[in-house]
Amino acid sequence: METIKLDEFRARIKAQDVSDRSHAAFKCPMCKTVQSITSFARAGADTETAERQIGFSCIGRMTSAKSPRKEPDGDPCNWTLGGLFRLHEMEVIDDEGKAHPHFEVATPEEAQALEAALATTEGQS
Ligand SMILES: [Zn+2]
Repeated sequence: METIKLDEFRARIKAQDVSDRSHAAFKCPMCKTVQSITSFARAGADTETAERQIGFSCIGRMTSAKSPRKEPDGDPCNWTLGGLFRLHEMEVIDDEGKAHPHFEVATPEEAQALEAALATTEGQS
């Protein structure tokens, strides 16, 4: 598992170079789906829910997705880091030194691809 400080976490999000914070993308540790606050909004989440779930619960929870499969198959799952099993791959250490499980920060390529994909479906939800 990877442990990073808040500074590094923010730097990785900045490195994604997306147009807005709502496009900052994270990857579910179970199904590897790349997701952002915008993904959650498109799935029907209100802003508060999206902010709370992003990086912590898989987008699949918004769409009644199935449990994680043994191997990622390209579809979202219903994983959440708040569950009994702690299988996260990354923790963010805050300024007080407390560790917070969090989905991995997606790569700039993944984040930009997601923003582009969401842009093409604008207004179709
Ligand atoms: Zn998932």
